[in-house]
Amino acid sequence: MDLVIENGRIVTTGGVFDASIGIKEGRIEQIGGAPAGRRHIDARGRLILPGGIDVHTHLDAPSEVGSTADDFYSGTLAAAFGGTTTIVDFCAQAKGQSLSEALSGWHGKAGDKAVIDYGFHIIITDPTEAVLEELKTLPDRGITSFKLFMAYKGSQMVDDLTLLKTFETAAASGAIVMIHAENGDAVLHLQRKLLADGKTEPFSHALSRPPMTEAEATARALMLAEIADAPIYIVHVTCEEAVREVARARKRRAGVFAETCTHYLYLTAEDLRKPGFEGAKHVLSPALRQMSDHKVLWRALTNSDLQVVSSDHASWLFEGQKTVGRHDFTQIPNGGPGIEERMTMVYQGVVQGEIGLERFVEICSTNPARIFGLTTKGHLAPGYDADVVIWDPDADRKLVQSDLHHRSDYTHYDGREIKGNADIVISRGEVIVENNAFTGAKGRGQFIARKKASKLL
Ligand SMILES: [Zn+2]
Repeated sequence: MDLVIENGRIVTTGGVFDASIGIKEGRIEQIGGAPAGRRHIDARGRLILPGGIDVHTHLDAPSEVGSTADDFYSGTLAAAFGGTTTIVDFCAQAKGQSLSEALSGWHGKAGDKAVIDYGFHIIITDPTEAVLEELKTLPDRGITSFKLFMAYKGSQMVDDLTLLKTFETAAASGAIVMIHAENGDAVLHLQRKLLADGKTEPFSHALSRPPMTEAEATARALMLAEIADAPIYIVHVTCEEAVREVARARKRRAGVFAETCTHYLYLTAEDLRKPGFEGAKHVLSPALRQMSDHKVLWRALTNSDLQVVSSDHASWLFEGQKTVGRHDFTQIPNGGPGIEERMTMVYQGVVQGEIGLERFVEICSTNPARIFGLTTKGHLAPGYDADVVIWDPDADRKLVQSDLHHRSDYTHYDGREIKGNADIVISRGEVIVENNAFTGAKGRGQFIARKKASKLL
């Protein structure tokens, strides 16, 4: 073996058990027994997890206020330190661009920078007939998920006919459609009313996007997908009203999936009221909700109404980017960082008794791998990629901005006392984080051509 991890406690969706792991040529060769290897890691007292998989990130993403602070180097480096070994990032089509052009742009951003493995979803913003035709060819190029927005009227928002056509294309070509579900017309209308009333501050963001704007679009998307008999994945579900729609659709048919994001488990709309315009740090879409929704989301993660927790990492700077909206909340770029914090913060759910260890691994790694066709990742068994995290379950620490590796100038969770730490992070058999230092090379990450979603449903 090239590497042997011994004396640790392995956590998979199938159970928790003590065994050694033998790794050879980047893959898991053996679990159990007493393999001999060139290097042995003693994982006594620690958990051995499949590397985290974050299927909702926006690295090097352009906007009117400039690109997100993290490129594929700093973003994937931060991911690695947090125990994430694979991301699927959103490649966004610019208006007038073909999907091939968009993809080659994203390959260019990631190729010599990423330190962990990565795939791309495609965001369709300009759904011409030619683009919808081109879409059919993407699954054969390893892009097996398409994303559409029902919000952001005038920029990314698409109409119901485009949704329906895209669902049909996805069903026929073996892809899954990811939906940002908010009613863009309703949001725009409420934004205009709030601004006309002089309500320009960050808290108005929450007032302009009440739970029903999310629940209505969620229900509509789920039913349009049902008409086309296509698989669907609702991104960033935030509230009881939307969870209810997802749960109902899952009772009706297979191929219905949904995630929530880390921040919806911990923050509330009250965070938008922070003084000094700091509420803008937490302007996210859909908006933050109430404390009671946290319970609903944890319960949904437990009973499988929700299957995944992603970060939705979009690292706008507070100074210079968020502050653009100082006098108009609709100008605040939507999103925040979280790629490094995700595993740790979801693990707090284990500490607090919200979820079990197996479920932690399932929603942070195994399920995203299964849903998105990452067939060699997300599990610890012979033949899988040796993407492994050696996790100290007892580490007590304080989560602070200055310890993080992203380039954002804040974290949603600054100052929180937390438990658990990704001590050693291994990607395809190579130790890339150890002793709180990065030991890999820039650009070592590989593009993963994902398998078609339909085979997994
Ligand atoms: Zn997003």
